[in-house]
Amino acid sequence: MNGARGDAGVRTAGALVLALPKGRVMEESLAALRAAGLRLEPRGAGRALSYDAGDALVIEMRNADVPTYVELGVADAGVVGKDVLMEAGSRLAEPVDLGLAACRLSLIRPRGATTMVERVATKYPRLTAAYLGRIGSGAEVVKLTGNVELACLTGLADAVVDVVQTGGTLRDNDLEEVDVIAHSTARFVVNRASLKLRSDRLRPLIEALRRQPGAR
Ligand code: AMP
Repeated sequence: MNGARGDAGVRTAGALVLALPKGRVMEESLAALRAAGLRLEPRGAGRALSYDAGDALVIEMRNADVPTYVELGVADAGVVGKDVLMEAGSRLAEPVDLGLAACRLSLIRPRGATTMVERVATKYPRLTAAYLGRIGSGAEVVKLTGNVELACLTGLADAVVDVVQTGGTLRDNDLEEVDVIAHSTARFVVNRASLKLRSDRLRPLIEALRRQPGAR
């Protein structure tokens, strides 16, 4: 079964396994990895393992799942937002700040709201609870998985904590950013065992990624 893929696992001899987040960060991550010298060719549409070449195999997944795949060593490395790493309490090695997907995690309310915040809806319950603790608020935290703006608009919550990039989504929904809780950019994260065992592949990649414009 030498070189078989999709049977017992995703590993093929020599190739790095990378976990990348679906969506807007995927294309920018692929561009950064290619600029750093990795050869990545798309596989057939609709395949879970979506990019392949001699150098690396890319597994495409939800942003929030990237730390788990890298932590458990199914992927050697990955790209994920600092917001997700902070929420997960991740202790993964983060050798490169790619500077991509810059955004902030903010407390958001309907425009002009002045009542005390009693319930906050969010995809980031840990960070939200820590923030509310810091400001001395006893508000309840409600965890949602999608479209949290809807929570404010429907009255499920009187505030939300969510990611803001341009602020366009807030303006469209008549919401306003009340406080910035944290700043986030996409990070190149690495499994600590892989960093030792595959340092011949990972070290040069890390150095090349650090040399990309906007990265550090
Ligand atoms: P914007 O309208 O540009 O402020 O973008 C806000 C929406 O886009 C939020 O509701 C987020 O779900 C999503 N978003 C923006 N930037 C990011 C990012 N860096 N990572 C994940 N989601 C993001």
